Amino acid sequence: MKPPVKKRPVRKNLIAIDGTLDKLERLRVIVKEKGRNAEPFDLRIYAKEAVREHVDCNNPLCFNGGISLGDVLREMVRGHQEDFIGTSFCTGQEGDPDEGGPYPSCDTRFEIEATLWFL
Ligand SMILES: [Zn+2]
Repeated sequence: MKPPVKKRPVRKNLIAIDGTLDKLERLRVIVKEKGRNAEPFDLRIYAKEAVREHVDCNNPLCFNGGISLGDVLREMVRGHQEDFIGTSFCTGQEGDPDEGGPYPSCDTRFEIEATLWFL
């Protein structure tokens, strides 16, 4: 079986370099993906070094998908918010970007639980 073609652009891990994490002593982030071909294991981040800017969507039909975990964490740090439980919907669309649209939105959602310990 051929591996699927990577249609997603490479994204910089901005959250690792933009200073957001410097305000934290530690953090815990759990992300559950719900949708077509969703990752069966929760993404669990317990170390600042493991934080990523973007969480990818595993829907094989989805392109430009996933969510910005960096945006969630930046928003929390800005508001000095210690706990967050929420759902983010995949920003991708289903279809082949080389063919014409319109494309339906990807139905995948990500349930996010984050706890921050500020310095
Ligand atoms: Zn998606």
